[in-house]
Amino acid sequence: MPQQTPAGLPGRIQHHIDGRSVDSVDGETFDVINPATGEVYLQAASGGQADVDLAVAAARRAFAGPWPKLLPRNRSRVLHRIADLIESQDERLAELETWDTGLPITQALGQARRAAENFRFFADLVVAQRDDAYKVPGRQVNYVNRRPKGVAGLITPWNTPFMLESWKLAPALATGNTVVLKPAEFTPLSASLWAGIFREAGVPDGVFNLVNGFGETAGDALVKHPDVPLISFTGESSTGRLIFANAAPHLKGLSMELGGKSPAVVFADADLESALDATVFGVFSLNGERCTAGSRVLVERAVYDEFVAAYAERASRIRVGDPSDPATEVGALVHPEHVAKVAGYIEIGKGEARLVAGGERPRGNYVTPTVFADVKPEARIFQEEIFGPVVAITPFDSDEEALALANGVRYGLAGYIWTNDLRRAHTFAQQVEAGMVWLNSNNVRDLRTPFGGLKASGLGHEGGYRSIDFYTDQQAVHIALGDSPSPRFGAGPGPATSFPAQK
Ligand code: NAD
Repeated sequence: MPQQTPAGLPGRIQHHIDGRSVDSVDGETFDVINPATGEVYLQAASGGQADVDLAVAAARRAFAGPWPKLLPRNRSRVLHRIADLIESQDERLAELETWDTGLPITQALGQARRAAENFRFFADLVVAQRDDAYKVPGRQVNYVNRRPKGVAGLITPWNTPFMLESWKLAPALATGNTVVLKPAEFTPLSASLWAGIFREAGVPDGVFNLVNGFGETAGDALVKHPDVPLISFTGESSTGRLIFANAAPHLKGLSMELGGKSPAVVFADADLESALDATVFGVFSLNGERCTAGSRVLVERAVYDEFVAAYAERASRIRVGDPSDPATEVGALVHPEHVAKVAGYIEIGKGEARLVAGGERPRGNYVTPTVFADVKPEARIFQEEIFGPVVAITPFDSDEEALALANGVRYGLAGYIWTNDLRRAHTFAQQVEAGMVWLNSNNVRDLRTPFGGLKASGLGHEGGYRSIDFYTDQQAVHIALGDSPSPRFGAGPGPATSFPAQK
């Protein structure tokens, strides 16, 4: 059945500034396309400096209002209401997300629920939050006074956009900041739901602001705005590098969640059926447009041929098609520009390795799950992030070689290790250069744990209390309990000046 246009699509997408939906000051717009058909279905306001200035000014005013001063319990109540509202419209959200991103509907639904969970988690965390106090018996008590930083600039990518926005919005708001969100230009649709959700939940006007538009204009203006003291960014490593440089003159707080080329290492002693399920899912779920995708599968030589054959067989049977069909496993890639990039890598891969499944573009933005085997570590498809349904499989002969292969790229986001040898599992996991490692599991997150990448995959960690740390300043307050005599400068008997004799 062909994809149905969702009912009740907005006529156009606007910014949301100070509680109002508004067009760009200069009236500029950009086209938004439906990935499944490639058709332009909507115009969105394209923000620039003037729109960002208005949004930041509104957020600053709101920061002077009641929001940062609310008791954590009261902000927590608002956040739980946000979670309730997301849950109550999860199917609608998934429908819009699928329409705008090309993600399979069942997976988009899972992401909508994760977005609600992010709000619940941070709602609970700020209520449970405690801060350090230090005693020097009889002399001093020192404590940490934590306070929100001000206007948080949040810049997000197009893969699972609503969920990734929630990952930043929830801790930023929970800690009492006000925000300006700049969602990805490929996928602005689901972000247009935030304003209504926040209003209904009781978030005061001006606390949440959203400016749509391109990275080089709207994003850049946010990064360089002097009244935005921190930027939380998720996107490509090259963009992260640019933002880092642009934020440097302002000495902003930065959290960078960047690209990945994560290894999934399969040892011969592993439960191979589970490893197959997880490694296939790990790279082809979310259309392969996933920062933590296990896009390099390293397999021990003893089981290599058998594993590659089974992998290729499974990949070739993955159901590709209409993203709104619940049976679909891989949908349409987000945008023709991105398809061109992925297709370019597939052509490069054909010259670098053995194509054992996929490699086709049946139509439009659809790419079949593509498996390359015998991929050499120097190959570009081994080294570079493709961010699509393409996997590189490489054999290894020893633990040392597997580790060198796993670590032999510039990225360091995630790692997946499959073995039933307890000692090897931990020894190997602890040596993998990755911010997050899963042993005998696909990517299942505990929201309390640190999230972030090493090397070119990121800077700083969010997740649990680390997000609270990022979105707050910690001021040390020192209190003297007893007398605390100071050296008495200026109280001595001598003359006010006294210099050594000159030669
Ligand atoms: P991107 O870097 O092109 O864009 C991300 C966001 O940055 C967009 O909103 C974009 O408009 C904005 N932007 C672009 N140039 C900018 C500039 N000069 N100044 C300010 N903002 C600018 O990334 P993308 O293509 O949207 O997303 C895919 C990338 O995101 C992949 O590399 C993926 O691995 C990464 N990602 C990382 C994580 C993580 O948690 N580590 C999660 C999801 C995606």
